[in-house]
Amino acid sequence: MAQARDIAFINAVVRTVDPRDTVAQAVLLRDGRIAAVGSAAEVRAVAGADAEIVDLGGATVVPGFIDAHNHLSIAAFAPECVDCSTPPKSTLAEVLEAIEQHCRSAPPGQWVRAMGFNLAHVREMRNPTRFELDEVAPDNPVFLIDASCHAGFVNSLALARVGIDEHTPDPAGGEIERDKIGVPTGVLYENAANPLHSHSWSDYAERDWDRSVDLLHAKMQEYLAVGITFVGDAMVTSKSAQLYRTADRQGKLPFGVQMLHAADHFFDTHDLRRPDIIDRIKEPGSERLVGGTMKIFVDRAYPAPAIDKMHHGCCAHTGAAFYPKAEVGRLARRAVELDIATAIHGMGNCAVNTVMDAYAQSRRGRSTDAVLRLEHAFVAEPAQAPRMADLGIDLVANPGLAWLWGEVFDMWRGECQHHLKLFPVRSMIDAGVRVSLGSDHPCGSFTPAEIIWTAVTRVSSKGMPVDPEEAITAAEALRAYTINAAHASNRAAEEGSIETGKRANVVVLDRDIVTCPTDDIRSAQVLRTYVDGECAYRRPVAAAAI
Ligand SMILES: [Zn+2]
Repeated sequence: MAQARDIAFINAVVRTVDPRDTVAQAVLLRDGRIAAVGSAAEVRAVAGADAEIVDLGGATVVPGFIDAHNHLSIAAFAPECVDCSTPPKSTLAEVLEAIEQHCRSAPPGQWVRAMGFNLAHVREMRNPTRFELDEVAPDNPVFLIDASCHAGFVNSLALARVGIDEHTPDPAGGEIERDKIGVPTGVLYENAANPLHSHSWSDYAERDWDRSVDLLHAKMQEYLAVGITFVGDAMVTSKSAQLYRTADRQGKLPFGVQMLHAADHFFDTHDLRRPDIIDRIKEPGSERLVGGTMKIFVDRAYPAPAIDKMHHGCCAHTGAAFYPKAEVGRLARRAVELDIATAIHGMGNCAVNTVMDAYAQSRRGRSTDAVLRLEHAFVAEPAQAPRMADLGIDLVANPGLAWLWGEVFDMWRGECQHHLKLFPVRSMIDAGVRVSLGSDHPCGSFTPAEIIWTAVTRVSSKGMPVDPEEAITAAEALRAYTINAAHASNRAAEEGSIETGKRANVVVLDRDIVTCPTDDIRSAQVLRTYVDGECAYRRPVAAAAI
């Protein structure tokens, strides 16, 4: 799918994000690759006689954004789910009404998924009960997914569909909330919601496989419009891998996707003795679809992440984990033996320690260049940064979540816990940790300009400053969203910077987000997005100057 003829962008601010952060004026795309970077004269000298010369009039060119941690296979179905996003919805009544309206036209018996609900943003500050959901959805099993994805709220039909009743024991790593007499309330935490995630997702995907591929493709078009040219899907099961492979075979992946392979269900514990799991992770990739990475979830969001707090000078542990600590170490070591890269979700400082111990153990006595990723570190200690740097860990952080989740994470941290910081990316970068940015969409926005702005300004949507001393610069955020994210995704040799020989994945922005006033970063517009040298998105002419 190489481009037909040379394209030379001249009169531009080309932020190459090469090792010296070179800023050039022009760049040449040829046969899907970057063929030259430099001054207009240098680029013209290399360009073919029939090259398309595009004068960008001072616009900025950056490498395509790499969203290293995104839940594309979940977000793809959003157009057919009930949008319960809070905000803009601000009451339970609005949420329930949206579900009722959707269910009126849904075929009876068909699963209904609803997304975006966060009790911290509704006036009632509570979750809906199964009985409230029964009232608005009498004929459909409903699964309202908590915006964190770590909990779900269901009606009686959904409980019956997956066989949960008062006799069902809590699964390991999850809780079925019950009332005083032991009847499930419809609130399911962590692993208890796994069958709901799996059943409802499969029902949507398998209604019509071609339509599912089209939904995936349409979501990726939305990503292209904000400048994303590579995504890491941070929770891929055997079913979602099947969706990606089908889309890839049909030529419907407009840019590269990395699958981070989870176990059979969402938060399930991994078992690397199972040949089917190893085969799935190691299945050879293609031009647009890569695997090779295992995803592990170490700690839970409910009742809280694994956090060590200080009380009267001694350390008290809160939160819960999915694995015994030693098992994380065994899995990480086995992954190294199998030449599998690892991405481990750790939200609290204690979980971060578990991840670092596991990686230290996995590396002992072996040389490996497999990528060792830590996802999140939402509530962590700057004091953890030097060891993280020493271990060569790629931290995939999500400071953009400060916008919607700043207050929740602050509550997780607790009062007077001065050793803990929310998204301590400043400290990590200063200590030499390679930090990448990921959106964690649909838990937050997928728009890089908004996420970079939040990483720079550190304010929540309610106006709360979120540890502003951990702010990073726009230049650091750009690096984190491009070449660093490429490294975390095992793609640094192919993309992530504008350097000769790399894939021609570039984005034209209407402003220079590194030098513009901070408040203007958020509204930066993508004028064009190129993938492998082809224009994959162009802003409608009426709105664009070029
Ligand atoms: Zn995630």
